Amino acid sequence: MNLVECVRQTALEQPEKHAYHFLGRDATYGEFEQTVSRFAAGLRQLGLEKGDHVAFLLGNTPHFLISLYATMRIGATAIPVNPMYTQDEIAYILQNGDVKTVIALDLLLPLVEAGVKVLPQVENYIICETSEEADVKLNALSNGAKEKTKSFTQILASNAEGVDPVKVDEEDVAIILYTSGTTGYPKGAMLTHRNLYSNARDVGEYLGMTPDDRVIATLPVFHVFALTVVVNAPLLQGATVLLAPRFSPGEIYELAGNQKATVFAGVPTMYNFLYQYDGDAAQFSSLRLAVSGGAPLPIQVLEDFEEKFKVKVSEGYGLSEASPVTCFNPLDRERKAGSIGTCILNVENKVVDEYGTEVPIGEVGELIVRGPNVMKGYYKMPEETANAIRGEWLYTGDLAKKDEDGYFYIVDRKKDMIIVGGFNVYPREVEEVLFTHPNVVEAAVVGSPDVNLGEAVHAYVVLKDNSTTVEELKEFCAQRLVKYKVPHVIDLLDELPKSSTGKILRRSLKEIVKAK
Ligand code: AMP
Repeated sequence: MNLVECVRQTALEQPEKHAYHFLGRDATYGEFEQTVSRFAAGLRQLGLEKGDHVAFLLGNTPHFLISLYATMRIGATAIPVNPMYTQDEIAYILQNGDVKTVIALDLLLPLVEAGVKVLPQVENYIICETSEEADVKLNALSNGAKEKTKSFTQILASNAEGVDPVKVDEEDVAIILYTSGTTGYPKGAMLTHRNLYSNARDVGEYLGMTPDDRVIATLPVFHVFALTVVVNAPLLQGATVLLAPRFSPGEIYELAGNQKATVFAGVPTMYNFLYQYDGDAAQFSSLRLAVSGGAPLPIQVLEDFEEKFKVKVSEGYGLSEASPVTCFNPLDRERKAGSIGTCILNVENKVVDEYGTEVPIGEVGELIVRGPNVMKGYYKMPEETANAIRGEWLYTGDLAKKDEDGYFYIVDRKKDMIIVGGFNVYPREVEEVLFTHPNVVEAAVVGSPDVNLGEAVHAYVVLKDNSTTVEELKEFCAQRLVKYKVPHVIDLLDELPKSSTGKILRRSLKEIVKAK
């Protein structure tokens, strides 16, 4: 089985079931399957074949779902890219990823003009009309750009017949995901049909997803967390995806209430914002489950959220290279706050030392992962691939420990460890303490160079209001942490630098420290 076949099956068996909801309109599985099939025929007509690469510069709209399933249907490879990236970042991916066709939001038309000049290998641009002036703007393209550009509607309209899915091998690459850039330069993780299908299936089963589920999709769909947890897993189970074009707490309250959402998935920052928002918590009363991932969820945030919304929060963990999920807190056993839970079905996790040997329970080491979800490798980067995957095990670069019940805890990322006068400090421990302060909204800790200690603990904090001083925060930490872990420097900021998926960009903070 693969994802395309599963959705086709649901469309045959339950054509009237809602596949997704977007801005007040529902699409049934029958309609979704038909649209995908027609769009796939349109891609074929453009000359796209099995193995070709199609980049998506799209947000959380139906265009993404249709493009993804149509691309997989003809056996081509999808490369979802953050549409907010700069032109240079996008150009790097289009070039590195050998992209032939780009499907983009109409607001990116200037990029088409630029691309026509600098990226001759891109043969086609398909523009999704999301604004009223889209047609006018398409007509205004220069001749060279116009020749290569068609609208999403044109592609659909010319192909009423549709096409059947081509036969794919489970090891064929379905998607290449350029990793988010919280570490190093972008590398394209190649995920096969087997990777995507198995992770969507295993996550769906672990989280008890059923056709009755209505899953909020506000995480950006170009990111792997959204792709598997709020797109592929629900579609595989015949559930309904509630597409939210952007993350705005008020709109999410409304969507949850009006659409009787049953599952919410978000990164910790979203939990923070939803909790802080002054809305009616009863709008989430149909929710049976909230899942967090992508970054550590501070225990304080988890507890506050659970209390306000009366719903269990299950933290999980994953990374692009593992399609992404490896662990989740189980629903049928204890949920341990601060833990990423136990291995999901079919996936093994191990904590190892620098020689790859498993360390005893409770000791910190690198988390490694094995299973059907582990990527094929990085596109055109054999050395990086060999470094990441050794003897079937994916080395995550995250530091973790395991308890006696088989629950894992992410202690930190390997590179984030701070060494203060010979003592190891994990930023997470310090952040957890800062988060328990009632006036702290966000906190991130990095190491900064220190003449005497080698490195000092440097905290960046966002406060609710300015009723707390830096000295008070230091004193608060000193009461809760051994001396060497207490932040030496605390800088108050209006907001922390974040990636498009809401992750705090430690690299940017380190650059701020360096510049200072
Ligand atoms: P990405 O490939 O963009 O999904 O980033 C994956 C990285 O996010 C992992 O290697 C971890 O460092 C981090 N991450 C994901 N989930 C968690 C979590 N629950 N706790 C701590 N870090 C996490």
